[in-house]
Amino acid sequence: MAILEIRDLIIDYGIIRAVKGINMDVNEGSIVAILGANGAGKSTTIRSISGVVKVKSGHIRFDGENIENKDPFRITAKGIVQAPEGRMILNGLTVEENLLVGAYSLKNTKKTVKDQDGVEKIEVTKRKNLVNQLLNEVYGYFPILRERKKQQASTLSGGEQQMLAIGRALMGNPKVLLLDEPSLGLAPLIVRDIFDIVKRIKDEGRTILIVEQNAYQTLKIADYAYILELGKIITEGTGEKLLNDEQLINAYLGSS
Ligand code: ATP
Repeated sequence: MAILEIRDLIIDYGIIRAVKGINMDVNEGSIVAILGANGAGKSTTIRSISGVVKVKSGHIRFDGENIENKDPFRITAKGIVQAPEGRMILNGLTVEENLLVGAYSLKNTKKTVKDQDGVEKIEVTKRKNLVNQLLNEVYGYFPILRERKKQQASTLSGGEQQMLAIGRALMGNPKVLLLDEPSLGLAPLIVRDIFDIVKRIKDEGRTILIVEQNAYQTLKIADYAYILELGKIITEGTGEKLLNDEQLINAYLGSS
């Protein structure tokens, strides 16, 4: 089922039309990728989902509710969390303090569950317990962050900062995690690690929408991908299908 639906989305920057009527579905529990060259409109699309860029027309539906042009803070609170762009690590804080910043919008949660006799009861998860649970989840994916939790974030390498950025987004307990070019500026080996972990995050049940220029690596982990060119979707399909489409790879995606 699509947890996130984009319908006829149009976005302008003044007289420049950056996104020209696109449709996308993000199914729950999947990795969906938006790929394409520089200036294709990838970042604009993902930033409109997090509410940072305003939509001219069309709809962005999350769990059936229209969320286009809502305040970014409200969108985060609903469970759509973008890993901070350009990493945006708070250098003066420690690694763990940075992670805790990501948990700012969490509240106590209530869920109706059935006991052994089928009687419904309300289960409350206290905010504090949820934060600890999420910290453990993040440290499970990124053990290096646990080792360095008391260190100033400014002392981390580029790859570790990217891990911290993803970790910080996970601390918001996202129903949809948005990643904008997590491989940017990182060495190939580190890129591979990050992509492996993104896949693991999905395997643990989260939904991920990722924007990337690194098409090859992304298609390997993506369940479904959309290829954008000049604001339009020129092709779409499963990661596997697109990865095997040599013509497409050569024409649009390069082989990086
Ligand atoms: P990149 O990987 O380079 O970020 P992209 O596919 O994410 O590329 P966008 O950044 O979404 O592409 O840009 C889409 C189009 O919108 C481009 O023509 C770009 O020049 C333009 N654009 C992006 N941001 C702005 C802005 N703030 N003001 C005006 N035009 C913009």
